[in-house]
Amino acid sequence: MILYRLRCAKGHEFDSWFKDGKTYERQEKRSLIGCPACGNAKITRAPMAPRIGKGGKSVEAPVEAPAQTAPTPAPDPQMAALAQAMPKEMRETLLKLREQVEKNLEPVGEKFAEEARKIHYGESDKRGIYGQTTDEEAEALAEEGIEFGRLPWIPRGN
Ligand SMILES: [Zn+2]
Repeated sequence: MILYRLRCAKGHEFDSWFKDGKTYERQEKRSLIGCPACGNAKITRAPMAPRIGKGGKSVEAPVEAPAQTAPTPAPDPQMAALAQAMPKEMRETLLKLREQVEKNLEPVGEKFAEEARKIHYGESDKRGIYGQTTDEEAEALAEEGIEFGRLPWIPRGN
Protein backbone atom coordinates (compact mmCIF):
# COMPACT_ATOMS: atom_id res chain seq x y z
CA MET A 1 0.00 0.00 0.00
CA ILE A 2 1.13 3.51 -0.72
CA LEU A 3 -0.14 6.78 0.65
CA TYR A 4 -0.43 9.69 -1.70
CA ARG A 5 -1.23 13.24 -0.91
CA LEU A 6 -3.59 14.45 -3.61
CA ARG A 7 -4.97 17.78 -4.64
CA CYS A 8 -8.14 18.46 -6.63
CA ALA A 9 -8.49 21.17 -9.28
CA LYS A 10 -10.08 23.41 -6.68
CA GLY A 11 -7.11 23.13 -4.38
CA HIS A 12 -8.43 20.76 -1.71
CA GLU A 13 -5.77 18.43 -0.42
CA PHE A 14 -6.45 14.98 0.92
CA ASP A 15 -4.64 11.71 1.54
CA SER A 16 -5.53 8.48 -0.17
CA TRP A 17 -4.17 4.93 -0.03
CA PHE A 18 -3.44 2.97 -3.20
CA LYS A 19 -2.30 -0.57 -3.79
CA ASP A 20 0.69 0.84 -5.62
CA GLY A 21 1.74 3.68 -7.87
CA LYS A 22 0.29 2.05 -10.97
CA THR A 23 -3.07 1.66 -9.32
CA TYR A 24 -3.08 5.33 -8.54
CA GLU A 25 -2.17 6.26 -12.12
CA ARG A 26 -4.89 4.04 -13.53
CA GLN A 27 -7.53 5.41 -11.22
CA GLU A 28 -6.39 8.95 -11.83
CA LYS A 29 -6.58 8.53 -15.64
CA ARG A 30 -10.08 7.13 -15.45
CA SER A 31 -11.15 9.88 -13.07
CA LEU A 32 -12.04 7.34 -10.43
CA ILE A 33 -10.63 9.40 -7.63
CA GLY A 34 -12.97 12.05 -6.34
CA CYS A 35 -12.13 14.89 -4.00
CA PRO A 36 -13.86 14.17 -0.66
CA ALA A 37 -14.56 17.87 -0.21
CA CYS A 38 -16.13 18.75 -3.55
CA GLY A 39 -16.24 15.61 -5.67
CA ASN A 40 -13.91 17.05 -8.28
CA ALA A 41 -12.23 14.25 -10.23
CA LYS A 42 -9.38 16.31 -11.63
CA ILE A 43 -6.73 15.10 -9.24
CA THR A 44 -3.03 15.71 -9.16
CA ARG A 45 -0.42 14.53 -6.73
CA ALA A 46 0.65 17.08 -4.19
CA PRO A 47 4.09 17.06 -2.63
CA MET A 48 4.14 14.81 0.40
CA ALA A 49 4.17 16.64 3.67
CA PRO A 50 6.86 15.45 6.03
CA ARG A 51 5.45 12.97 8.50
CA ILE A 52 6.39 12.12 12.02
CA GLY A 53 5.25 9.67 14.67
CA LYS A 54 2.81 6.78 14.57
CA GLY A 55 -0.31 8.88 14.14
CA GLY A 56 0.76 9.95 10.70
CA LYS A 57 -0.02 13.50 11.53
CA SER A 58 1.51 15.87 9.07
CA VAL A 59 3.96 18.38 10.35
CA GLU A 60 3.41 21.93 9.29
CA ALA A 61 6.40 23.60 7.76
CA PRO A 62 7.53 26.40 10.02
CA VAL A 63 5.95 29.61 8.88
CA GLU A 64 8.33 32.47 8.78
CA ALA A 65 7.19 35.36 10.88
CA PRO A 66 6.65 38.50 8.87
CA ALA A 67 9.40 41.01 9.23
CA GLN A 68 8.75 43.52 11.93
CA THR A 69 7.86 46.89 10.61
CA ALA A 70 10.10 49.39 12.21
CA PRO A 71 8.29 52.07 14.18
CA THR A 72 8.51 55.44 12.50
CA PRO A 73 9.13 58.02 15.13
CA ALA A 74 8.64 61.53 13.83
CA PRO A 75 9.71 63.99 16.47
CA ASP A 76 10.10 67.59 15.38
CA PRO A 77 13.85 67.59 14.60
CA GLN A 78 13.27 64.76 12.15
CA MET A 79 10.31 66.52 10.60
CA ALA A 80 12.61 69.05 8.96
CA ALA A 81 14.61 66.26 7.38
CA LEU A 82 11.39 64.57 6.31
CA ALA A 83 10.17 67.78 4.72
CA GLN A 84 13.43 68.07 2.83
CA ALA A 85 13.13 64.52 1.59
CA MET A 86 9.52 64.66 0.40
CA PRO A 87 8.51 65.75 -3.09
CA LYS A 88 7.99 69.50 -3.56
CA GLU A 89 4.25 69.17 -4.33
CA MET A 90 3.69 67.18 -1.18
CA ARG A 91 5.54 69.75 0.91
CA GLU A 92 3.48 72.55 -0.63
CA THR A 93 0.22 70.71 0.02
CA LEU A 94 1.16 70.18 3.64
CA LEU A 95 2.19 73.80 4.01
CA LYS A 96 -1.16 74.92 2.55
CA LEU A 97 -2.95 72.64 4.98
CA ARG A 98 -0.94 74.10 7.79
CA GLU A 99 -1.88 77.63 6.72
CA GLN A 100 -5.57 76.76 6.60
CA VAL A 101 -5.41 75.15 10.00
CA GLU A 102 -3.68 78.18 11.46
CA LYS A 103 -6.17 80.56 9.85
CA ASN A 104 -9.37 78.75 10.83
CA LEU A 105 -8.67 76.93 14.04
CA GLU A 106 -7.77 77.96 17.54
CA PRO A 107 -4.27 77.04 18.69
CA VAL A 108 -4.20 75.12 21.95
CA GLY A 109 -0.62 73.89 21.76
CA GLU A 110 0.17 70.88 23.87
CA LYS A 111 -3.24 70.95 25.52
CA PHE A 112 -4.78 69.54 22.35
CA ALA A 113 -5.92 66.22 23.82
CA GLU A 114 -7.33 67.92 26.91
CA GLU A 115 -9.24 70.53 24.90
CA ALA A 116 -10.50 68.02 22.34
CA ARG A 117 -11.91 65.97 25.20
CA LYS A 118 -13.58 69.00 26.82
CA ILE A 119 -15.23 69.93 23.53
CA HIS A 120 -16.31 66.37 22.92
CA TYR A 121 -17.93 66.08 26.33
CA GLY A 122 -19.53 69.52 26.15
CA GLU A 123 -17.38 71.12 28.85
CA SER A 124 -15.99 73.59 26.36
CA ASP A 125 -17.52 75.53 23.44
CA LYS A 126 -17.72 73.60 20.20
CA ARG A 127 -14.98 74.96 17.98
CA GLY A 128 -12.10 73.92 15.80
CA ILE A 129 -8.77 73.63 17.52
CA TYR A 130 -5.28 72.50 16.64
CA GLY A 131 -2.20 71.62 18.58
CA GLN A 132 0.27 68.88 19.29
CA THR A 133 -0.33 65.56 20.89
CA THR A 134 1.55 62.35 21.47
CA ASP A 135 0.78 59.11 19.68
CA GLU A 136 -0.58 57.63 22.91
CA GLU A 137 -2.93 60.54 23.43
CA ALA A 138 -4.07 60.44 19.83
CA GLU A 139 -4.87 56.76 20.19
CA ALA A 140 -6.81 57.39 23.38
CA LEU A 141 -8.80 60.14 21.67
CA ALA A 142 -9.63 57.87 18.76
CA GLU A 143 -10.78 55.18 21.17
CA GLU A 144 -13.08 57.66 22.88
CA GLY A 145 -14.62 58.45 19.53
CA ILE A 146 -13.30 61.99 19.36
CA GLU A 147 -12.92 63.27 15.84
CA PHE A 148 -9.62 64.73 14.82
CA GLY A 149 -7.20 64.67 11.97
CA ARG A 150 -3.46 64.39 11.93
CA LEU A 151 -0.98 65.94 9.60
CA PRO A 152 2.77 66.17 9.58
CA TRP A 153 3.56 69.62 10.89
CA ILE A 154 6.38 70.53 8.59
CA PRO A 155 8.42 73.64 9.13
CA ARG A 156 7.95 76.73 7.00
CA GLY A 157 10.62 78.16 4.77
CA ASN A 158 12.40 76.30 2.05
ZN1 LIG B 1 -12.02 19.52 -4.02
